[in-house]
Amino acid sequence: MKVAVVGAGPAGVRAVEQLVAAGLTPLWLDEAPDGGGRIYQRPPAQLSRDARRLYGFEAKRATALHATLDALKAHADWRPNTLVWHIDPHRRRLEVLSAGTQATLDFDAALLCTGAMDRVVPVPGWTRPGVTTLGAAQIALKTQGCAIGDKVVLLGTGPLLWLLAYQYLKAGARPAAVLDTTAFAHKARHAPGLLAGGAVFWKGLYYMAAVRAAGVPVYEGVRPRAITGAGDQVSGLAFETARGAARTLACDAVALGWGLKPEAQLADLAGVPFRFDADQHNWLPERDIAGRTPVPGIYLAGDGAGIGGADVAERAGARAALALLEDTGRPVPQDTVAALDAALARLAGFRTALERTFPFPADLARAVPDATLVCRCEAITAGDLRAAGGTPATGTARELNRAKAFTRLGMGRCQGRVCGPAGAEILAAALNREVAAIGRLRGQPPVKPVPLAEAAE
Ligand SMILES: Cc1cc2nc3c(=O)[nH]c(=O)nc-3n(C[C@H](O)[C@H](O)[C@H](O)COP(=O)(O)OP(=O)(O)OC[C@H]3O[C@@H](n4cnc5c(N)ncnc54)[C@H](O)[C@@H]3O)c2cc1C
Repeated sequence: MKVAVVGAGPAGVRAVEQLVAAGLTPLWLDEAPDGGGRIYQRPPAQLSRDARRLYGFEAKRATALHATLDALKAHADWRPNTLVWHIDPHRRRLEVLSAGTQATLDFDAALLCTGAMDRVVPVPGWTRPGVTTLGAAQIALKTQGCAIGDKVVLLGTGPLLWLLAYQYLKAGARPAAVLDTTAFAHKARHAPGLLAGGAVFWKGLYYMAAVRAAGVPVYEGVRPRAITGAGDQVSGLAFETARGAARTLACDAVALGWGLKPEAQLADLAGVPFRFDADQHNWLPERDIAGRTPVPGIYLAGDGAGIGGADVAERAGARAALALLEDTGRPVPQDTVAALDAALARLAGFRTALERTFPFPADLARAVPDATLVCRCEAITAGDLRAAGGTPATGTARELNRAKAFTRLGMGRCQGRVCGPAGAEILAAALNREVAAIGRLRGQPPVKPVPLAEAAE
């Protein structure tokens, strides 16, 4: 049986580990050069920071995952630097691009472990050079050992905001300020629910305390107003404090992000149905706790199936592989299955608490000023989108894909991965509808840009 695993992050590694232990040789693809995924992203060989400095408290786990990954490569059909840009669930084929070469690969079952990406709310000035997502700023630190500027403001909400602030501090790149759109009182109110996270919760508290203790200016409950600057240079961030006072901070770079969204385009192309999850405020592909989807032969695990974090990803990867093995008539250790199911159920409660503690600021997204770019690839503003929507009474584009047809929102390089969530909020607000009623941008191949010659082939 040919099993394809897409992704070599925590979920993909633990999935392949189970498949190999069962005697299979899975086809294992990752667009990155060396695997490890996002949290345990590996630097190029010439970067000499050691694991302790790169991954902090997670160094042991990172090293263990990398060791497993490296040991598994010889037992799998390992294909790094390989983008899977389409999946055909009927003919059971993957379209892949590796080093400029296009190939079609067959599979009998596929396990998609494609991870997540930052979720963005457009702030006036967010497309200036010098503005990145929190995740991109972290990748620059992990893989190139550099900060995105000399005076960097970190803006957004969620664990990554505080983790990055701490990592910047440890790397000697003290942030100019941390701006959290969630108010302190809101976080404090939800803190008891986070206790279920155990060590993860205490680490989070430690990061927050360390950032404050180092004297980094922290503002909570803020509303960003604009990233200011002249030409290509960021010069400041204007915002409203929790008490409504207007402030501007001088800076030369801004990293922003409001939580994560699943990279679920391949699941979409595979025909997996999606549902809107109110807590994650995301559209999630449908699957059971074991990672089985309603589409025969398609399994999902890790953040690509719904944001869960690295601990969940490792367990979900192993669990989905066991489900796949079980479904194809192979014996699986039932005590391992039971232990994984129990852990996944417990961790799901923690994730819900985390999402409620750091909510996506839908109100901010719904109020993006008319002149602000939402889709930077196609230069579509919030006003363009509102105009396409019409009025609540006349409603021309009552659904996001219709608005896409009218405006070209989401037709550029990112295929709506960046602009989709905020675009949906803006359209929903214009039509006075719930965001879930607006729908989501449907996935289209290629899921990421491929050279025209390859697409033609
Ligand atoms: C930028 C960023 C930084 C993060 N940093 C942290 C952190 O420091 N600490 C933390 O606790 N959590 C962090 N997270 C959350 C973290 O991603 C998850 O908790 C964890 O890594 C999820 O594991 P995973 O295996 O599901 O996905 P990932 O680790 O994201 O791995 C997914 C893998 O799939 C590959 N892939 C995706 N699509 C394709 C495709 N079409 N073709 C081929 N390969 C593909 C990717 O290259 C990647 O290697 C971060 C998330 C992001 C987006």
